[in-house]
Amino acid sequence: MKKTVIITGAARGIGRATAELFAAHHCNVLINYHRSVDAAQQLYHSLTEQGLSVELFKADVTRRPEVEAMVAFCQQRFGQIDLLINNAGIAQSRLFIDLTDEDWQTMINTNLTAVFYCTQAVLRRMIPQKKGKTINIASIWGQVGASCEVHYSAAKAWLIGLTKALAKEVGPSNIQVNCIAPGIIETAMLTPYNAEEKAVLKEQTPLERFGTPEEVAACALFLASDAADFITGQVIGVNGGFVV
Ligand code: NAP
Repeated sequence: MKKTVIITGAARGIGRATAELFAAHHCNVLINYHRSVDAAQQLYHSLTEQGLSVELFKADVTRRPEVEAMVAFCQQRFGQIDLLINNAGIAQSRLFIDLTDEDWQTMINTNLTAVFYCTQAVLRRMIPQKKGKTINIASIWGQVGASCEVHYSAAKAWLIGLTKALAKEVGPSNIQVNCIAPGIIETAMLTPYNAEEKAVLKEQTPLERFGTPEEVAACALFLASDAADFITGQVIGVNGGFVV
């Protein structure tokens, strides 16, 4: 039977590559987007033209009612929810002493609280079916910290903690909870870095290049597969050796 996956922030970047890969592997894919309306519609058309099973849902994942509506829509449209990929996220580069309350709150709401909302909503369906997997997209900065990205690093470190604790709690319900911690991946998230900063980041990466969204998606596809049924509570690095 086809598996159904919800992917947050899936109109562009890592989420988009993940949606394309899961759809190509014959999953029902719920593509969540928030601001990228045109990109979401373009992705929807390109996948449905290939005969793949996808739906779009616009929701701000920092708002619980919108998340609840998205999960209910997915359940009603596809009949079940097997997988959740918490990918939506934001980054911001700013000195810690300059961070405003709003900077802090927006970062934590988007990168952490949204995962709380989405995961709670799907677990209410997964626990009774005694099967399911959730995958959280964290970051190397949650493992080792990044200067001028303290709030981002803190949110991703909390996400790693959430992953480990929740994996223990829902393991008896046969639900796997894992984390991918990407290194530097070529997406719009790199736009704020100038050429010099990018060169330094490349130098710090033993494989001497940035990763692609497709490489992160490939790891998610493995973690979502039955081959990964005995893997839970783990942080899998897709980072070119940046963190070993
Ligand atoms: P991206 O291209 O900037 O994409 C970010 C995505 O998050 C967009 O699809 C955006 O949706 C979505 N999003 C943001 N706020 C949202 C909200 N409130 N509700 C719903 N969706 C929201 O960045 P990316 O590199 O693909 O990042 C994806 C994930 O990977 C993030 O969690 C990021 O922290 C993580 N990551 C990235 C890197 C990297 O180097 N690129 C490294 C480590 C970890 P809309 O455009 O529709 O609003």
